Amino acid sequence: MKAIQLEKPGSFRLIDIEEPAAPGPGEAVVRVRQVGICGTDLGGYLGKMPFFSYPRIPGHELGVEVVAVGEGVVEVRPGDRCSVEPYLNCQRCHACRRGHTNCCHHNQTLGVHCDGGLRRFYTVPARKLHRGGSLDFEQLALVETLAIGSHAVFRAAPKPGETVLVIGAGPIGLSVIEFAKLSGARTVVMDMNEQRLAFVREVMGVPDTVWSRGDGSEVAAVEALTGGNGAESVIDATGSHRSMSQALAYCAFAGRLVYVGITQADLTFPTPRSCTVANSASSAAATPCPPIFGASSTTSSRAGSTPGRGSPIAAVSAT
Ligand SMILES: [Zn+2]
Ligand SMILES: [Zn+2]
Repeated sequence: MKAIQLEKPGSFRLIDIEEPAAPGPGEAVVRVRQVGICGTDLGGYLGKMPFFSYPRIPGHELGVEVVAVGEGVVEVRPGDRCSVEPYLNCQRCHACRRGHTNCCHHNQTLGVHCDGGLRRFYTVPARKLHRGGSLDFEQLALVETLAIGSHAVFRAAPKPGETVLVIGAGPIGLSVIEFAKLSGARTVVMDMNEQRLAFVREVMGVPDTVWSRGDGSEVAAVEALTGGNGAESVIDATGSHRSMSQALAYCAFAGRLVYVGITQADLTFPTPRSCTVANSASSAAATPCPPIFGASSTTSSRAGSTPGRGSPIAAVSAT
């Protein structure tokens, strides 16, 4: 069967690979119906994604159809439409044994560390499939992206009456904004790109935006919007070490700062603050997931959490 392989940075090729064998115990063979392409894939193509190895079949944002299941699989059955949790944890390391499956020491992300979904069929652990209820395949391919936003907001825990500042209005930032709005807190969005901010105001319905010009005026702007207190929750979705280092300055005392993006650079904090700083990648997987999914899950991926194993995700809105 055909697959698309990123042979090396800048070079795709169409390859022929074997069709998957019958699924083993706990496995499922799925037909790939929809694949999302995101900044991770772009970074892999450009050779700028540090975790990417080559050659690699990309594809980690997936809407799939189950075609066969192995022995002992009860969560899904042939014909089910599913979203895929692409973070394959080892189930044996210190983090996994403590229930922090999203922090697995040996995590293998589909399409990044191991081959992903740009092929017709492949085999995946059935525990990583989440039935999609009435969602179509395009929506199912968006679940992973939305789960990242959901998890970041879950970690930042904004409450009604508080302010949540989302820094970065790229695709992941937009995912964060959706769930920030659902939290009931007042949402403020900051970006360097005025066009993106216009989109946030006009399409996302968030009136309070801050245009970051990198001249220090952003702190005053956030303070003006928050009565001088700063935001109780700050979520940085930029992946820029400069922004991530600066983000603490917008955070209220006793506030919470969550990083969603990844940077290889060192972070420095010029202003000591009494805040909680968290990486969205880390969380207690045993913590119940947000009810946003309409499922009472007790599992969580790095991205937070697609709902529990085999549980329906019909409550996820892809709009
Ligand atoms: Zn992605
Ligand atoms: Zn592990």
